[in-house]
Amino acid sequence: MSLIVILDDRVTNRNIFSKLAGLVEEEAEVRAFGDAEEALSWFDANPPDLVITDFKMPNMDGAEFTRRLRNRPTGVDVPVIVITAYDDRRFRLRALEAGATDFLQSPVDHHEFLSRARNLLALRKQQQTVKRRATVLERELRYSERSREELLRDSRERLAQVIDTVPAMISATDRQGRCIFVNAYQAAISGRDPREMVNRPAAEIFGEARAERSRLLDRFVFETGEPIAGFEEEIVDFAGTRHMFVTTKSPLRDMANAVVSVLTTSLDITSQKQAEQHLRFMAHHDALTCLPNRSLLRDRIESRIAHARRERSMFALHFLDLDRFKGVNDAYGHHIGDRLLCAVAERLRHSVREEDIVARIGGDEFAVLQSRVDRVEDAVDLARRLVEVVSGAFAFDSLELGLSVSVGITLCPDDGEGVEELLKNADLAMYRAKSDGRDTYRFFAAEMNRQAQEAVAIENELRTALARRQFVLLYQPQVSFATGRVIGVEALLRWNKPGQGLVAPQEFLPMAEETGLIVRINEWVLREACTAGIRWREAGLPPLRVAVNLSPVQFRRQDVRRLVLDTLAETGFDPAFLELELTESILMENAEAAAEDIRALCEHGVRFSIDDFGTGYSSLRYVKGLPVSRLKIDQSFVANLVSDPNDAVIVRAIINLGHSLNLDVLAEGVETAEQYERLRRDGCDAMQGHFFSPALPAEAFAELLRRGESLVCVA
Ligand code: C2E
Ligand code: MG
Ligand code: MG
Repeated sequence: MSLIVILDDRVTNRNIFSKLAGLVEEEAEVRAFGDAEEALSWFDANPPDLVITDFKMPNMDGAEFTRRLRNRPTGVDVPVIVITAYDDRRFRLRALEAGATDFLQSPVDHHEFLSRARNLLALRKQQQTVKRRATVLERELRYSERSREELLRDSRERLAQVIDTVPAMISATDRQGRCIFVNAYQAAISGRDPREMVNRPAAEIFGEARAERSRLLDRFVFETGEPIAGFEEEIVDFAGTRHMFVTTKSPLRDMANAVVSVLTTSLDITSQKQAEQHLRFMAHHDALTCLPNRSLLRDRIESRIAHARRERSMFALHFLDLDRFKGVNDAYGHHIGDRLLCAVAERLRHSVREEDIVARIGGDEFAVLQSRVDRVEDAVDLARRLVEVVSGAFAFDSLELGLSVSVGITLCPDDGEGVEELLKNADLAMYRAKSDGRDTYRFFAAEMNRQAQEAVAIENELRTALARRQFVLLYQPQVSFATGRVIGVEALLRWNKPGQGLVAPQEFLPMAEETGLIVRINEWVLREACTAGIRWREAGLPPLRVAVNLSPVQFRRQDVRRLVLDTLAETGFDPAFLELELTESILMENAEAAAEDIRALCEHGVRFSIDDFGTGYSSLRYVKGLPVSRLKIDQSFVANLVSDPNDAVIVRAIINLGHSLNLDVLAEGVETAEQYERLRRDGCDAMQGHFFSPALPAEAFAELLRRGESLVCVA
């Protein structure tokens, strides 16, 4: 079990490093100290295997601490890692002079921490094995009856055997630079027989360069009698393969304690280095496409910004979001989705210049950093190319898929000078491309930012409106063609905005839907409409069907069935007099969930109509299985009914279609006697529109009912 000691004056660092140290080895024991003196005196009874210390500490810095540690018997050869900040080169030098083994740069990279600590511990263990064997041999030598000569020979042989089994290069050289010992591993790396290497000059065996370096270091050990702590070196083996080693040198002494040779131990850390490299790569790249990830992109944008500032040049950031990628994933599975992403990555990579960067920054989001933009047209050209390459068909096995992409572009320095700002603005521009119909690109414009801010302001206003009860309902009567009498009423929402009067729903509903506030607003609408219905009954007016509009967002975000049943129970309104208006998009988007709610509510007597029919998909496919009882012809058809023969045909077709499915048909927005007459002749069942009455406040509507106003057929 290894003992790892952490020294840092800051408690957060101590905690982090202790946690990391615990991961170095399965059973590593970790001790953390905040005070250097305390750590030093603790070491006397507890020899550590690895010490990791901060450099900057209030009472004693990392260099001084290392020096004092080296002066203690338990600290002479323990590996010491010193943590310094990036620009602390001076400190590093001081720590090195004091005997530090290795450095880590703060903020500390966790992978690097682990791999350095593991390397040093492995080395430490091998050194200790060798040392232990040497001690045993020495003891045997001292107490043995046999002649020293004989014993020495014997023990050398055994030591050699032990050393041969160690997976590290071990060799010893004398003062003349001759190899006096080489282990099997070292010989294998050199591609020679260990026996023929002994007594040869080191240069002959290790090659000139390494032998020269080794000789200089050996001389240091001979002169000072001090070991040299681990340093990394690259060694090419006899077959030409490169290996990374961490090498240490220690003095070997004779009986009179004079240094007679230098032992060189080199531990092969090639695979650790590769793992380290891999980890470093993974930290900055996306695992699926191997493209740079968001964090690397950020770094690159950062340096581009600096460059642009220096050179007074411009660059562009393109933010790409695939259109309807989720649909592909859902329909064909993640396997195909992944292949598609890789194929897109490949096409993007081939569309840019070498100095540009393509990054994957999220599920189906990519970014391209276009380094050289002399004119805005350069950015346009690239954006166009990106849109084009993504929209070509992708073929996988027998499958052929179409795709498109929306691109948002920001230019630096025009659209922002910070990484975050550029990314955010490119994202905004991308949304603009999406809302303009996808499969296209848009530039960021300061205008967009203004719109985003306005949106936030509207959202806040809507919240206030809810809290301050600024919403009101108007009621528009629905009239039967057969009798000319009012048969129902539609509740229509208005915002009574202080200082502005009644605001129409088109002005605020889109924002209410986007923010989800529509859910709470429509809860209020439903309750208010039911309450009004009850009040009219109490006033002795004839029973009327009250129609309320539902929003697609409600089906996505709330249990519509629960809401309606609860509201009916709460207000006491008779379900048989409630009509809920659905849009085609509700049925398209939430087919399953909506169908269940609709069927259940229908069993309670609630009726359903399809609003704005003719403007959406105009398909009755989804209505077939549902208990819908009315189609409402959109007012845009009614508006041109008399002047445009096409619209006249469409209106007639909708009426016939509705009747053939047993649906009642109501025309919206009837403004003139001609329209009214045409609809009546075409067999429409009911109508709603200014020709009879606009939407009215609750009281005015009650008054209209009380007067028993009706429409008489004109023709
Ligand atoms: P809609 O459900 O199709 O409502 C009919 C719209 O036509 C209403 O507009 C109504 O005032 C207008 N209208 C009625 N007769 C005439 C006419 O003769 N000529 C013209 N030009 N227009 C006429 P409004 O009140 O502005 O509502 C617009 C839309 O907002 C509604 O369309 C509905 O989709 C939505 N909406 C209104 N209230 C609510 C609500 O409480 N909740 C939800 N989710 N949506 C609502
Ligand atoms: Mg409606
Ligand atoms: Mg409508």
